[in-house]
Amino acid sequence: MKKIIIAGPRGKMGSEAVKLVQSQDDMQLVACIDRKNNGKRLKDVDGLPALDVPIFEDAQECFGQVDADILIELTIPEQGYRHTKAAMEHGIRPVVGTTGFTEEQIDELKWLASERNIGCIIAPNFAIGAVLMMKFSQLAAQYFQDVDIIEKHHDNKLDAPSGTAVKTAEMIKESREYKQQGHANEKETYPGARGADYDGMRIHSVRLPGLVAHQEVIFGSPGQTLTIKHDSLNRASFMDGVKLAADKVMEMQEVIYGLENVL
Ligand code: NAP
Repeated sequence: MKKIIIAGPRGKMGSEAVKLVQSQDDMQLVACIDRKNNGKRLKDVDGLPALDVPIFEDAQECFGQVDADILIELTIPEQGYRHTKAAMEHGIRPVVGTTGFTEEQIDELKWLASERNIGCIIAPNFAIGAVLMMKFSQLAAQYFQDVDIIEKHHDNKLDAPSGTAVKTAEMIKESREYKQQGHANEKETYPGARGADYDGMRIHSVRLPGLVAHQEVIFGSPGQTLTIKHDSLNRASFMDGVKLAADKVMEMQEVIYGLENVL
């Protein structure tokens, strides 16, 4: 039985994760981290399931008091990084869905994992279809140098570009022959019109109410384009990946960044 703590249980992702843990025979929810309901039980909070599970505001206190195997982290980047680090210091394995960690923060967590011999999975996208989209894009980039990534999310998202877009660009970079795209003399009438520049390719972030998480990777060469597209229509799309990561993290002694590395 894997004993699970969820950070962010009232959030859109966190509430799906609570449902996931409840539905699994080999998982048990032992605590939650929530800044608004310190000291309460889950059953006392509107909208959360009737479970007699303690809620902590302070992660250190939670990890110090509760016997747990895994932290499922689904909050915001700054707080999520603190939770992740503290979990590893307490011997609890993080499965991190929170996006927006910096490269330095990920390096710090990698160092901590090797120091403590403990596993951690950080996945900017837990949807299996999105992971395949990244892999297909990496393959296509062997044959197409020109590529734009267009990611589209709801307008409550804090980080841009999305973790998925950054990860896609990193994977494309591994197989694409470098090219600075566009015209050498191009000029933006409005700043940002051409999107972010990552290794010469372009990333565009759309933020609109009504969207969940969507991405198109468009490759172009003379006379043809190739579009690889993925849509998450609701947050349930991410939960197969969270479950997979929770299973795999128990066997690991390092930080794995990207679900494709555990598939
Ligand atoms: P959300 O609905 O806004 O939920 C965020 C949760 O974090 C809420 O419970 C919120 O509580 C809590 N929170 C906010 N600020 C906090 C703070 N300072 N300290 C502690 N808790 C705080 O967002 P979401 O859509 O669930 O997304 C959560 C994270 O997952 C984001 O980083 C998002 O980018 C990421 N995400 C990842 C995937 C993936 O597949 N990896 C997919 C979708 C989203 P309050 O109500 O008190 O603000």
